[in-house]
Amino acid sequence: MMIQDIAPHRFDNHYDPAARPSPESVVLHFLGKRLLCRVRSGELAFPTAAELGEGEDTYLFRLDDTAFFLRSGDGELAAEGCSYEDIALFRTARPQEYAFAAVTAYHLASWYAEARFCGKCGARAVHDAAERMMKCPECGHMAFPKIMPSVIVAVTHGDRLLLTKYANRPGASRFALVAGFTEIGETAEQTVAREVMEEVGLKVKNIRYYKSQPWGISAGGLLLGYWCEVDGADEIHLDRMELAEGAWVSRDELKRVYEDRGVSLTNEMIVRFINEEM
Ligand SMILES: [Zn+2]
Repeated sequence: MMIQDIAPHRFDNHYDPAARPSPESVVLHFLGKRLLCRVRSGELAFPTAAELGEGEDTYLFRLDDTAFFLRSGDGELAAEGCSYEDIALFRTARPQEYAFAAVTAYHLASWYAEARFCGKCGARAVHDAAERMMKCPECGHMAFPKIMPSVIVAVTHGDRLLLTKYANRPGASRFALVAGFTEIGETAEQTVAREVMEEVGLKVKNIRYYKSQPWGISAGGLLLGYWCEVDGADEIHLDRMELAEGAWVSRDELKRVYEDRGVSLTNEMIVRFINEEM
């Protein structure tokens, strides 16, 4: 189950500029990477409009019948039992539909924070009346939510899978796959081949698309998962700036040591490899 797999709950991202908070609407307030929320033994809950009182709010989305709003302002807010919690917590928080709502809200909050002024002429931007877009009243420049495609690559070699560990990524799990952002003028398949070459010095073939995942924790990531096979030599040459480790791990060893934990595309692909469901 990936973080966005929240059925039977429904995430509705349709933009509704006329929406105003009702007392039971959820109001989210971020200070940097921290969100005001309640966490009791891993269970997540959000403050409501009634609890936070009046403020400047932007409509985000609906989860089932509950509307979510983003509260503006840099000052700390208070609500009974609430504290500011780091967004990294939502990788594991329950219920999963709330964790997904929190990271998606973080994605939007990050974008709204950087879209306040026109990127072209510097005037203060305003919310568009029809769609989720920040518009410049001076020059007409339009800014849409930032979504950055990147690839997650499972490189296989017979019954072995290439696992990596990133050097400078706090909170990164012990097992990772090759990953990286798509660059200008590149197809996703070219990103796959380039990232594998840059990170571990291997050539790959038979690149196949698997699935995608919105990844709000990186404030705009859209992860595209790919399978591929090593082409020719299988000796790993690590990019030490990027990776701390890289190794071929056999399916048998993964069966013994891999713990299925989590909601990421990376996790799902590793589990699929173990179960021979690629
Ligand atoms: Zn402008």
